[in-house]
Amino acid sequence: MQKIFGFAWRGKSGVTQWEKGTMSLLKGAASGEQPMAGWLEGEPMYTDRQLVIRHTVPTNGLSFAGTIDVMNADQVASALISQLDQGLPLHLELSRVEFSDVSGIRAFVLAAECADARNRIVLHGLPSLLQRVITVVGWADLPGLEICSCSAG
Ligand SMILES: [Zn+2]
Repeated sequence: MQKIFGFAWRGKSGVTQWEKGTMSLLKGAASGEQPMAGWLEGEPMYTDRQLVIRHTVPTNGLSFAGTIDVMNADQVASALISQLDQGLPLHLELSRVEFSDVSGIRAFVLAAECADARNRIVLHGLPSLLQRVITVVGWADLPGLEICSCSAG
């Protein structure tokens, strides 16, 4: 395993901590297609006890690490919607989301409902279970939502 993220999990406190270093390279997907490989991670744009959302370079992306649930789903939706005005697809790196309940999924869908094909939300590295849920309930058909083929499963 390559270890190029400046990411460490502190189990005892349950607090997610980022090690020093402002930028780190996003890893590529295990499969052949790697749309977000080579993107840089930038400054955090949202942090709470269980989740860190970081800006990326190029700027039309966000990387997620941690847990999304009813405690922060509203903030996640707001964070996503705030990034939709760039006139470009918004790419999300989700391979380090350890857990998301249905309210977390709903946050992505809510944001996607505010998007259209031009500024659609593209999910990368989505855990296979979440991908299945989104597909089964038909949310994958939203014009504002795209699940990249690099997603797990
Ligand atoms: Zn992808």
